[in-house]
This record gives sequence, structure tokens and C-alpha cells, in this order.
Amino acid sequence: MLGSRFRRVIINRPNLRIPFPPQFIERLRGKTVTAVSRRGKYLVIELSSGETLVMHLGMSGWFHVAGIGDRSREADPHDHVVFMMSSGQSVLFNDPRRFGFMDLAGRGQLAEYPALRKMGPEPLSKGFDGVALARACQGKRVSLKVVLLDQRTVAGLGNIYASEALHHARISPLRKASSIATASGAPKADAVQLAKSIKAVLTAAIRRRESPYRSARFRVYERDGEDCLRPGCGGTIKRLWQAGRSTFYCPACQR
Ligand SMILES: [Zn+2]
Repeated sequence: MLGSRFRRVIINRPNLRIPFPPQFIERLRGKTVTAVSRRGKYLVIELSSGETLVMHLGMSGWFHVAGIGDRSREADPHDHVVFMMSSGQSVLFNDPRRFGFMDLAGRGQLAEYPALRKMGPEPLSKGFDGVALARACQGKRVSLKVVLLDQRTVAGLGNIYASEALHHARISPLRKASSIATASGAPKADAVQLAKSIKAVLTAAIRRRESPYRSARFRVYERDGEDCLRPGCGGTIKRLWQAGRSTFYCPACQR
């Protein structure tokens, strides 16, 4: 999309998770994509008009990019949006469960965009470390897992990798968030380790994103009832619910 112009925009329904913004098609058509980036779980596409296209894949959303003259893809009822670019390529958004969305932030409004305004540091950036994590956990009486999923703590961490990171760090998801920080918000050793573990599991996940085998990708996620993979642990992975989300962990090695 970068450097290309929206030649035509097709939307096949009035909404995804939320309605498309007013004049969505008109505000895209003829505009050139000047930058493509990501913040947390949001895809951020800057336009020559000064507006920004903000997109989220939700649970099941994905993009299909068709090359010039490529007609090989058969029509699918879940193809909700098609961007026909001036490059000749088409970018198609497919989302069976429709938890994804597309929205436009007005000129100069991106910094104030509600979902992005209070978002925490990117997990793989220098701005995220044990100090930042401890500060976010200071005085919080809710469980550590819940604070990890809060996008104000760290951007983009989701349910799967929150569980994976806690297992990597040998820390129980049931612990109070405040337990990894001192009363003044300084990091304890667990905060430093957990920040490192978050970076480690995300970096490893990015490296093996090609793998189609889900079970091979996770050490605890959806492995309840199976043996802990930590050498010598001997524990059994358990599943529990925290704030409406499933958590997987090993009670034997996560304390
Ligand atoms: Zn274990």
C-alpha cells in the first residue's frame, strides 16, 4: 500500500465490529498512503489528506493481497472490504467473526485517538523494561495477568502471550500485580525477569510465525491437562478464568 493511491474502495456491509466512519469511501479514495505502521494491535495507515486509517484484525481478521491481474481468489462471504490500489494490487480484508474494525482519525487527531491515547510502551522497545512494568503494577491489587492484558501496561500483549510470558518467568498468574514492585514502585527481581520474558516469548513467536502447528508454538496455552514442558518440572498445566479470559499455567513451577 505504501506510496500507492486508493483507486477504489468497496465495502460489502455497513459495519464490522463498529460501523465504518462517515464518508469512509470518499475519505480514502484518491488519497496516497504515506506511511504504514503499527501501534499495539492497531495497524496505522497515514494518508496524504492528513487523516489516518486505523485498523484492527480482531480475532479472525486477515488481509489478502492480490497482485496485478490476479483473479485467483474466489469470492468469499467474509470478504468485507477491498482496497483497489493505484499500483494495480488489491488489498482485501476478510474477517469471519467480525471483531475487527476500520476507522479514520481526523487530521492531527491520531495522538488523541481513544484506543491509542493511553497505550503503554511497545514491548520490544527500550521504553519497556522492569522499571516500566513495576511502575504499572505499583499498588495494584488485581492479579498480575489482568494487569498484563491492560494495554496501558504494555502495548499489544494479548491473552496467549501473557500466559506464555508468566510461564517463561516462573511467576504465577494469580499473584497480585503489586507483588512485583516495591511500595514506591521500584522493580523487584520478578518485574525485571517478567519484562525480559515478555520480550523473549514475543521475539520467539515472531521468528516462528511461519509454523502452522499451534500446539508446537505454545508452552502452556491450550495445554491444560498436559505435562509442563519445563525440563524436570513434572507439573501439569492447569486452566483457570481471570476477568473472563482463560489463563493457562503450571502450579508446580510458577510461584
Ligand atoms: Zn512447570
